[in-house]
Amino acid sequence: MSKLQLSLAIIKPHAVKNPVALAYIRNVIKNNFAVIKTQRVSLDKETAGNFYLEHVQKFFFNRLVTFMSSGCIDVHIIAHTNAIQLWRQMLGPTKVYRAQFEDPYSLRGMFGISDTRNVAHGSDSPISAEKEIKFFFPEFSFYNWHTNEEERFRKGPIVFNKHLFQHVRKL
Ligand code: GDP
Repeated sequence: MSKLQLSLAIIKPHAVKNPVALAYIRNVIKNNFAVIKTQRVSLDKETAGNFYLEHVQKFFFNRLVTFMSSGCIDVHIIAHTNAIQLWRQMLGPTKVYRAQFEDPYSLRGMFGISDTRNVAHGSDSPISAEKEIKFFFPEFSFYNWHTNEEERFRKGPIVFNKHLFQHVRKL
């Protein structure tokens, strides 16, 4: 079995506020990935802008950062042998009308409201995953995790702690 890869998943404010969507998305996450860390945060506009800095010149930038700072977001470090691609596949296309048309049972197809309010974020490459995980979890060490934890999460046994919304190694 290949080594586990890490990705960052963010559940966007409108989905965190919708109990049906949130319960469904959380089940998808915990049933398909090892959940390494979870935190619920509320971003201010400046921090949301820093996270989406690559889009600063885009027409939708202002509405994106206004939306991302409009309520709590849930941020998860998730692990799987193919975490980045698998999570993005579960999200479906960025544009919600396209998701509804081409992949209606994807998370964006089911719970997306608009191109801005498209349910969730997923890292798009290993370099972005590392950068984005550091953004939200500055104390998290990739090196330590891959050296000391990866094999134990891959081989198990692990159990799910529903209060932390995290998998932990079974003692
Ligand atoms: P992602 O990796 O699939 O999230 O897509 P991108 O990195 O291209 O865009 C980041 C986020 O910007 C998306 O998740 C959307 O919330 C938003 N976004 C991207 N393209 C558009 C667009 O054409 N219109 C609007 N309103 N928002 C967009």
